[in-house]
Amino acid sequence: MTVTQTTSNEATTPGGDLESRNPATGELLGKVPVMGQAEVDTAVARAREAARTWGAMSHAERRRHLTAFRRELGRRVEDMGDLIHRENGKPVLDSVQEVLVSCIHLDHATLRAEKALATQRVKTGLMANVRATISYHPLGVIGVIGPWNYPLFTPMGSIGYALAAGNTVVFKPSELTPLVGRLLEEIAADSLPDRYILQTVTGDGRTGGALAASAVDKLAFTGSAGTGRKVMAAAAANLTPVVMELGGKDPMIVAADADAKEAAKYAVYGALTNAGQACVSVERCYVVGDQYDEFVQTATEAASKVKVGGDDGQIGAITRPQQVDIIRDHLEDAVAKGAKVLTGGPEKISGNFVEPTVLVDVTDDMRIMTDETFGPVLPVIRVDSADEAIERANDTEFGLGSSVFGEAGIVEMAERIKSGMTAVNSVMTFSAIPTLPFGGIGESGFGRIHGDEGLKEFSRTKAIAHQKFSIPGVTMEFAPDQKSATKLVKVLTKQAFGGGIVDRLQEKVRNLLG
Ligand code: NAP
Repeated sequence: MTVTQTTSNEATTPGGDLESRNPATGELLGKVPVMGQAEVDTAVARAREAARTWGAMSHAERRRHLTAFRRELGRRVEDMGDLIHRENGKPVLDSVQEVLVSCIHLDHATLRAEKALATQRVKTGLMANVRATISYHPLGVIGVIGPWNYPLFTPMGSIGYALAAGNTVVFKPSELTPLVGRLLEEIAADSLPDRYILQTVTGDGRTGGALAASAVDKLAFTGSAGTGRKVMAAAAANLTPVVMELGGKDPMIVAADADAKEAAKYAVYGALTNAGQACVSVERCYVVGDQYDEFVQTATEAASKVKVGGDDGQIGAITRPQQVDIIRDHLEDAVAKGAKVLTGGPEKISGNFVEPTVLVDVTDDMRIMTDETFGPVLPVIRVDSADEAIERANDTEFGLGSSVFGEAGIVEMAERIKSGMTAVNSVMTFSAIPTLPFGGIGESGFGRIHGDEGLKEFSRTKAIAHQKFSIPGVTMEFAPDQKSATKLVKVLTKQAFGGGIVDRLQEKVRNLLG
């Protein structure tokens, strides 16, 4: 059964077909099957078989294969870029940039895995007779569920790191961008030694639900908090661990000593890039005192010059038609509560295209300041001080990214923002730096992708305590003279940790050594 629609990609029941359409034109791009539990389970079983060989390879062997995969992806930048452009609706430049950053992350994970996951020897404290090590091993099969806004880059943040850590992957792309997932699978099949190392399962939320309920060893989910909760509930049945990369309401703060014009240009970029459909886009802006007028004027001028849609458009269509309703709703709510539109606004929405919008006179009770808008909108608030800005920025359930502009004490200010990542004097830069961990807190999720943390997220940590020779007392609980043994433990605890002579001596040595 096939459901035909105009710009929406709603799916049929499992077993039917899912149509993928260009959100800018409605053009039919292709059809993929809607897979159910049986197909997903088959893919996971094949991935498990492939994981035996892939996981047993040395890092050097995997590095060679993953380099071939990265080369194939880089070589096919036009194919992939063009498909992202047509399936997601973003401009070609954005699309090829997405391929570039995906290659950057895949390359980093490939080259870094051996070092980041090398076995470490650790101190053993009082147990000098033991050699202690921590080692990292593949988990097995990782299920990756991805969103549509960065259909390649976002899942690659999990896929690249999971593969480099020695796992195989079953990837469920969004129903809005299944063909990107398919092409990635094809590129992997053309370059990796086994086509089941990276597989794509297509379909809608039910297919994602099937993957969450399957026998994967870990699930990396990127999407909204609402769906994240459903995924966690399904994964809970098998106690499958999860990484949750969820939405955000990222604040930007412009301090009194910032370059207001420069900050405004970054704010417009951060709010409008990918038509605002970025989990770490600038969603609200707090500008301190005197900077406000210059900031607002520059931002309004810059935003009104951004071209929407068409062949030379700098931002494209809103990918998911329902998102247009959310953006309109947030804008209308703000205007009804007294916000002033300086450019753009709800009346300028046409089909799936939303004009860049700058709003002032916004208040904290407006939905535009509390809920994820995911559109090309920049609401600006004037504040009296950096402290006030930080307090209001932190007054949110989310905690994904953030940005701060200024000079004196700006890094300390960045540290005080409750979010997983902060860009100082720029926006979103942390996403493209593969050595930095990426992830949020609160409603923005937990766990980390990218960086060494990302590689370890997809590894099983193993602790080994190797006793080299035995010393008396380790099996003290079974000592024949329980009374004396108990007394000895009490003395030892007091002397070593309860302010006794050993404790004080250790502190002195520590102080001496600095
Ligand atoms: P979504 O609606 O939550 O969907 C995410 C993925 O989950 C899609 O593949 C979706 O499939 C699938 N899904 C839906 N229902 C499911 C279920 N019951 N069980 C398992 N999977 C299910 O999110 P979205 O609209 O695609 O993406 C936008 C959201 O992602 C925003 O909130 C954005 O901030 C967030 N995001 C976060 C990050 C990050 O790294 N933190 C990055 C990018 C985006 P279908 O599409 O086929 O329904």
